[in-house]
Amino acid sequence: MATKKVVIIGSGPAAYTAAVYSARAMLEPVLFEGFMSGTAGGQLMSTTDVENYPGFPESVTGPELMDRMQRQAKRFGTTILAEDVQSINCSMRPFKVTGSSTEVFAHSVIIATGAMARRLDIKGARDGEFWQKGVSACAVCDGAIPIFRNKDLYIIGGGDSAMEEALYLTRYASRVFIVHRRDALRASKIMADRALHHPKITVLWDSVVEEVSGDKVVTSVSIKHLKSGEVSVHPAGGLFFAVGHEPNTTFLQGQLALDANGYIQVVPGTCRTSVVGIYAAGDVQDHVYRQAITAAGSGCMAALEIERELSALESQKV
Ligand code: NDP
Repeated sequence: MATKKVVIIGSGPAAYTAAVYSARAMLEPVLFEGFMSGTAGGQLMSTTDVENYPGFPESVTGPELMDRMQRQAKRFGTTILAEDVQSINCSMRPFKVTGSSTEVFAHSVIIATGAMARRLDIKGARDGEFWQKGVSACAVCDGAIPIFRNKDLYIIGGGDSAMEEALYLTRYASRVFIVHRRDALRASKIMADRALHHPKITVLWDSVVEEVSGDKVVTSVSIKHLKSGEVSVHPAGGLFFAVGHEPNTTFLQGQLALDANGYIQVVPGTCRTSVVGIYAAGDVQDHVYRQAITAAGSGCMAALEIERELSALESQKV
């Protein structure tokens, strides 16, 4: 493949918006959408109704929104590769982007690989224990499977994800318990109110899950009240983590400046990273807003920044 002007890595709102803008600017983008990583389409693929993306007054499902964005990117000529990127060589320009089966050289790269749901290291919840046998980090992806039907389900976290996922689980569970380590929620008031007023939802304040037990699947959880120190065992059909996210930056192998939590550092107000020609957009560089609309906005910014850089280089040649 000849050297491309732009390679985009990712397939969430940031990546597809960057693709739409760069394709319409005739930059002929190549987009690696991911495959084995299971992240194609990004986090919205595991979201039900998206009520806060402008232009959809009746709401839209996450997968439908992503499908629309992908079609829009394709319509203007984006080449989409269903491959994971394994590495980027940032020490040369054009940069070498190595996918699972394709190698592409690119003048500019936009990294929009997003973030993944975090898990806690709890006895019984690890790989080879009850992980994926009643323990999950995505209620919206897994909540509908039969093992969770008409059971008491537990969800850890006090943010918007915990509220959203607890509400989602009420469709299947007999009761839902939110286990939160503090006595106040981090969630927005509207989401917190919906959860707190739901008849099937109870919040266990100042509490942590100490252990998950079961036979073939989860059957109980041990919960410690942090103020009294009391530990109690509760029948449970499932445990869900909703404790935030990890940015997908491991494949960068330390070549770009990251913050203490692994998010890519960008020059404030831009998508420029510590390497000239490499840009970052969406949740991989944003631990503050983390919304589909802000991710889309930053994807647009990255594409415009590249377009301007390339135009400036062209005019220097003339
Ligand atoms: P947040 O970081 O907002 O919340 C994570 C929660 O997990 C916090 O309550 C935190 O507790 C808890 N937590 C973290 N680590 C631990 C631990 N080791 N043990 C126990 N609890 C822990 O993440 P979210 O995924 O909820 O939300 C991320 C962003 O996405 C937010 O900006 C949110 O507004 C947004 N969002 C919006 C939605 C919507 O509008 N529909 C839906 C989902 C998310 P503590 O509070 O004590 O720190």
